[in-house]
Amino acid sequence: MYNNSSIDDIFSRALKSTNIFLDRNALRSDYIPDKLYFRDDQIRIIAEAISPVLHGVRPSNIFLYGKTGTGKTAVAKFVLSRLKKTASSKEIQFKFSYVNTRMAGTEYRILYEVARDFGIIVPHTGLSISEIFDRIFKTISRENLLGIITLDEIDFLVKSHGDDLLYELTRSNEKLSGGFLSILGISNDLTFKDFLDPRVLSSLSEEELVFPPYTSEELKIILSERVKLGFMLNVFTDAALNLASALAASEHGDARRAVDLIRVAGEISERSGLKNVEEQQIREALLKIDQDRLSDALNSLPLHSKLIVLSVASIKDSLSTGAVYTSYCSYCNNLGVQELTPRRVSGLLNELSMLGILSAYTTSMGRQGRSKRPKLLIPYSTIKSVLSNDPILLEIINKIESIE
Ligand code: ADP
Ligand code: MG
Repeated sequence: MYNNSSIDDIFSRALKSTNIFLDRNALRSDYIPDKLYFRDDQIRIIAEAISPVLHGVRPSNIFLYGKTGTGKTAVAKFVLSRLKKTASSKEIQFKFSYVNTRMAGTEYRILYEVARDFGIIVPHTGLSISEIFDRIFKTISRENLLGIITLDEIDFLVKSHGDDLLYELTRSNEKLSGGFLSILGISNDLTFKDFLDPRVLSSLSEEELVFPPYTSEELKIILSERVKLGFMLNVFTDAALNLASALAASEHGDARRAVDLIRVAGEISERSGLKNVEEQQIREALLKIDQDRLSDALNSLPLHSKLIVLSVASIKDSLSTGAVYTSYCSYCNNLGVQELTPRRVSGLLNELSMLGILSAYTTSMGRQGRSKRPKLLIPYSTIKSVLSNDPILLEIINKIESIE
């Protein structure tokens, strides 16, 4: 017998599905599946550490770290959502806040989101940081709130704004006359601790938990479950699954990259009107993901770096730093901007090579001695399609092409 809800289920799934995808949403990298594999220990340790809150006792601050795609965000959100469910049947005033500090961007925005999640009204702009803190602390004390704040990608916050905000938060319990605050910090960067004041570090990592990279075998199981959720039956081939797991494992066991690979491969099959996802689509997906990453990197470069990229692209032979500099100066001249010194340009060339946009390698150049010969690592067509979005650069690109 079909009941109403299972019929609704069939229709809503039909709406979301195509010949390839059963549920595209399940293939997003921020989707959290009901079952998380190989993380039982981490889930248990976090749950145990946090459970005193159910008796109104402040849980220790917890610090999770591990490389991108090791399941930190998924595990933290998973445990907290279960805790919320249990806590909601209690009389105690629980408050939870989750903020991704990289996406929030500024200290103000982070505190704004915490305040909002705690039900405290704060304007979008205009207050000083200490005023927002004041409002948060006062409300917690007055209402006896038990607050748990998850700060994700906390390494971003500290690298761009220092650790003042963390200092204030970790000291909060001295200032509160009622209720409490606990912090669940998450970092993608293992060396991040070096950036913290020792007092902040010791307070943040009352409990500390490492998320190791996944092996290729583990990724295969994670992926095969994800394939069942996201793809129509028998669309995704075993060969494609094996290749995607192996590729993601070689990239520091990154489940995010693995999920991105299968989603993008599915999109490629769909667009090409294919019935299956095979190894070939995984390979194409890999190229596309890397290209997209480079396009993003290219797009966000400052003007002078973009001009340097174009200078390298414009020179076919005698690719010495000197020739690149001459060409760069002529573009600056065209645009009426002041050129940077050769030393600064050389620094920017190094930066571009660290980003994987250029390879700058040193070679012997006869009497001039050793000089760096930069070379493009991205196809010119990509550079052109990204940079020609900017009308100023388009003029230069047209000029380069008219010389050829
Ligand atoms: P991190 O926060 O460490 O960068 P995420 O938690 O965002 O990693 O995980 C990246 C992707 O991989 C997400 O789509 C997540 O659902 C999936 N994932 C990670 N670990 C597991 C796991 N153990 N089981 C199932 N899926 C996982
Ligand atoms: Mg994360």
